[in-house]
This record gives sequence, C-alpha cells and structure tokens, in this order.
Amino acid sequence: MFKNFKSVSKCAYGRGSFSKLGEIITEKRSENNKYFVFLIDHYFQDKEEFKARIPAESGDIVEFIYTSGEEPKTSQIDELRDRFLAEKGLPAGVIGIGGGSIMDIAKALSLMFTNEGSSVQYQGLNLIKKPGIYHVGVPTISGTGAEVSMTAVLTGPTKKLGLKCDWTVFDQIVLDPDLIASVPRNDWFYTGMDTYIHCVESMNGYLKNTFSEAYGYKAIDLCKDVYLNEGFGQNPLNDEKLMVASYFGGLSLTYSEVGVCHALSYGLSYVFGTRHCFANCIIFPHLGEFYPEGVAEFNKMVAQNEIYLPQNLSKDWTDEQIEKMIDVCWALTHMWRHALGEDWEKKLTRQKIKDLYKMM
Ligand code: NAD
Ligand code: ZN
Repeated sequence: MFKNFKSVSKCAYGRGSFSKLGEIITEKRSENNKYFVFLIDHYFQDKEEFKARIPAESGDIVEFIYTSGEEPKTSQIDELRDRFLAEKGLPAGVIGIGGGSIMDIAKALSLMFTNEGSSVQYQGLNLIKKPGIYHVGVPTISGTGAEVSMTAVLTGPTKKLGLKCDWTVFDQIVLDPDLIASVPRNDWFYTGMDTYIHCVESMNGYLKNTFSEAYGYKAIDLCKDVYLNEGFGQNPLNDEKLMVASYFGGLSLTYSEVGVCHALSYGLSYVFGTRHCFANCIIFPHLGEFYPEGVAEFNKMVAQNEIYLPQNLSKDWTDEQIEKMIDVCWALTHMWRHALGEDWEKKLTRQKIKDLYKMM
C-alpha cells in the first residue's frame, strides 16, 4: 500500500490558544480582496463573551450557521460561495469555528471559491482542479477528526461523499480545549465515540499499518480515560485528552480506512438524515462479529456514562428505504475492501447488509 498524505500545515494547541487566532491570520489579510469569512456554529450566536473574542475586523463577514438540523449540503456550499463572491469578491481566507459540520463547510467553501460550478461535481477523490484559498479550523466539539482529515463530507442530490484531496486539508488549526467545555453531554459522547470507532475500524482491516496503529492505540487510550477509566467524565483534563484523541484518531484513519460501521452509517444518514456520530453509535453495538473487543468496550462506555441509545428502529423502516440504504452502503467500496479484503464482493451480500440494518 502506498500513501502520500498532506498534513495540516500549522497547529496551535493549548488552553487559551483561541486568543491567538487574530495574530495568526494577520499575515494573510493582504491576500485577494483582503477580507476574511468567519463561519461560526449557531450555538455561539448569543454567547456575547465568546463573540467578543472573535478576531473579525471591519470588512470581514461573520456568518452564523445552523448545524443542529441536517448535515452540510452541496447546495449550502454553493449558495455561500455565490453570495460571498457577489458581495465582496474573493476573500483572503475562511475561518471555521465549530464542530465537524463547520469544519467540513469551511474546507469545502475554501475549495469552491476557486473551482467553478457546483460542489456536486467534485464529490469524490481528487476531482478538485485548483487549490482553494487559505482556511483555518477551530474545533469546538471533538471527535470527528474533521480538523485533520483530507475530506469535506457533503450530502448531495445523489450521494453523501466528501470533496477529498490534498487541498482540502486545513492550512492552520487552533485546538483550544476550553472551547469544548460547553458541549452537551450526549453530543460529547456520540462525537467522542466517532474517534473511538475510527480507531477500531482503522486498526482492524487490510490497510492497517504501524503508522495508523500508533495513532490509533494512543487515541483509544485517551478515549478510555475520558469515558471509562477512573476520573472519566466531562472535565477540563478530559477535554484536553479528547481534543488530542480526535486529532490522533483522524490521523489513524488517514493512514488506513474506516470500515463496516461507517459504510452502514452513510446509508443511514443518507436515507434518514441521522447525524453521523449518533448514527455510528446506533450501528456499532451490532457489529460484534466484525469488531468483538471494540464493541464490548464501547458497550461498557455507554453503560458507564448512562447514555441512552435507541433500539428497534428498523421496525418502522420500509423495504424501499432499506434498499436505498444498501445502495449507498454498497457503493462505499473502499471501506469494504479495507474491512473484508479485495474479494469483499464474494464475502458480502445485499442480504447480509439488510440483516445488519434489521438488527438496529
Ligand atoms: P456538529 O458540528 O454537527 O455539531 C453538533 C452539535 O453540537 C450542534 O448542535 C452544535 O451547535 C453543537 N456544538 C458545537 N460546539 C459546541 C460547543 N462548544 N458547545 C455547545 N454546543 C456545541 O458535530 P460533530 O459531531 O463534530 O460533526 C458532525 C459532522 O462531521 C457530520 O456532518 C459528519 O458528516 C462530519 N464528519 C466529517 C468528518 C471528516 O473527516 N471531514 C469525519 C467525521 C464526521
Ligand atoms: Zn466518523
């Protein structure tokens, strides 16, 4: 296996590092039409103390984005790009402040400022034609690894798939553990579990390798500190650990690949709009035959943190909906190849995927 990955160019880490954001982006202010776009999670819209710390200057655009409903869409990126270009021309850069949704919107928007047409036509690997503009990620909820990954996941008219290429990767990230302290308990669990599942999947498949395992084992240890070991729970030390776990988990899968849970999860999200991390948590307990140790430990973390996960959802699903989920899931050939091997099509049937969905 040959992989040659671009990493995030610069990373600031530590409590209070958000205060340095203005200083960090200053040198880029003279580029293009000399203004920045700040894309900020709607949670912060009425948080006056936080808003006062956003280093926006006159002429910059500050846009609050609602993220509690559907996941980022291709049409949303196209609309933002067209509106900002019409209003003020090409910005100096895009700063995303929020969770995985905002990270992906910032990454995709950076690319779409310089690539013509709709983002729909770039959903896939290396389809983007030109580098995007300078883009910075400031995560405020940890787990997806979107701050470090080379993909910007979008839901389009026919598929949920990322704009994936070297230019997607952030130029700069600012990891300030103070910013994740206010995450609601359920989101804290679901999104953290995305890291855990990334690592279990990246380390259990045909593409696993020492690079991916080194990051993965450390990220799993950190997750266990946050969700299982003595001192577990939402607290400042664990916020530091979770932020690093998310980053390492993202690197673990960058050097390998996700597997069965993510393939099924994309189908579920596509058909029902179920949010990524929550969808993974619904699916993962049913994957004991693929990841026995990971599932046993996951179940312990669910119990210890007293998290409720819905059961028997599939009783309300129509055959048509399940068939559509299977279509989306089956098309994720890179995940199946990693999880089951080159001959995955001989090992997997549509009926098997249906049986797994029926367990949920
Ligand atoms: P999110 O960005 O969807 O946010 C979840 C919720 O948390 C929102 O309601 C938001 O308002 C709230 N929130 C965010 N920060 C907060 C804070 N500090 N305090 C209180 N509330 C806060 O969450 P997510 O789980 O990080 O991201 C999910 C998205 O990430 C999905 O769209 C998924 O497709 C994507 N994803 C991307 C990658 C990648 O590599 N690009 C990987 C996994 C998932
Ligand atoms: Zn994930």
